[in-house]
Amino acid sequence: MGRFDRDQDDKLVFETSKDVKPIASFEDLNLKEDLLRGIYAYNFERPSAIQQRAILPIIKGRDVIAQAQSGTGKTATLSISILQRIDVKTRETQALILSPTRELATQTQNVVLALGDYMNVQCHACIGGTSVGEDIKKLDYGQHIVSGTPGRVFDMIRRKNLRTRNIKMLILDEADQLLDMGFKEQIYDIYRHLPPATQVILLSATLPHDVLSLTSKFMTEPVRILVKRDELTLEGISQFFVAVEKEDWKFETLCDLYDSLTITQAVIFCNTRAKVDWLTNQMRESNFTVSSMHGEMTQKERDTVMNEFRQGTSRVLITTDIWARGIDVQQVSLVINYDLPTNRENYIHRIGRSGRFGRKGVAINFVTNDDLKTLHDIEQYYSTQIDEMPMNVTDLV
Ligand code: ADP
Repeated sequence: MGRFDRDQDDKLVFETSKDVKPIASFEDLNLKEDLLRGIYAYNFERPSAIQQRAILPIIKGRDVIAQAQSGTGKTATLSISILQRIDVKTRETQALILSPTRELATQTQNVVLALGDYMNVQCHACIGGTSVGEDIKKLDYGQHIVSGTPGRVFDMIRRKNLRTRNIKMLILDEADQLLDMGFKEQIYDIYRHLPPATQVILLSATLPHDVLSLTSKFMTEPVRILVKRDELTLEGISQFFVAVEKEDWKFETLCDLYDSLTITQAVIFCNTRAKVDWLTNQMRESNFTVSSMHGEMTQKERDTVMNEFRQGTSRVLITTDIWARGIDVQQVSLVINYDLPTNRENYIHRIGRSGRFGRKGVAINFVTNDDLKTLHDIEQYYSTQIDEMPMNVTDLV
């Protein structure tokens, strides 16, 4: 039995807490005036569903588990809540946001700074691949909020440049990934250095049962806002498959689709760094323009690729699961799984790079004969429909 079938065996049942009530407007959240001003200046008019439900309990100081579909405003949920809770009169670090990738940590820093534009807030991105000396300088100056990746954050805590004494909020973005094998120990190492009363907030589109079970270890009577598995896919994102039969036929299929990819912007996922490099080279040799990004590149290269893609000067990005979670580029309307993801959570996250905040999106899965079962499993697991790609797929993006 796979790890996804265990729900039935466990006695614990997790549901959205009974006392969660939606607050329909930002005014009704009684936010600080300079924060409210920042929210409206950022062109948010009304809080999204998750913002309506999660911000208030976080502001009240409760531990909160906030699940919501991709692209529905979780980053702004955590940003607004933190900005409301911190005291900018002292420059002590009061909130620590952890993310699984450097790009996501930086994106969150930028959202915090934008929403807090009228608050005189200091928010530092404490991420690997950057100068340690710069980090130390910024932290010594004083940062109300730190948004970082676990490795560098723990390093800065150990060196005592990131002082934890006044931290009152720990936010785990993409919490299920941070509590998965690769990161779990590092997260506990950091957690152990925080004051015992630290409020803990978890966010993700996917929160499998085993992660929810784990939360009793480090959360106190959390408020839960949860989404059922069969409500996780977004209606705006149409999902298709192309039966390529053999691995060798994927490349030609992709070339045939290239014109559709460039209508807006597209992200193509492969399962390994080597495959990303290989596909990028193949595409370039066939005179297609593509960008690529993965974790073996220098941070400088990664930054360049991110900037070009965010600005729209590059339109087609070939990448790994480093890009699966959290990254928000509104112009992305097409996602291609050149390889099917190896974990079911990342299927939801990958296709969620399109269809941001109610926009339309299309996800196309390349499936070999060997993949057909996996695709069917995904369909069943999320109670969703993945049809064969129609000829007029470009009309949908
Ligand atoms: P998530 O973290 O849930 O994937 P994000 O917080 O990245 O989603 O939000 C997705 C997009 O929606 C972003 O471009 C963000 O600026 C926008 N957005 C978030 N909240 C609102 C809102 N209340 N009104 C309008 N746009 C919003």
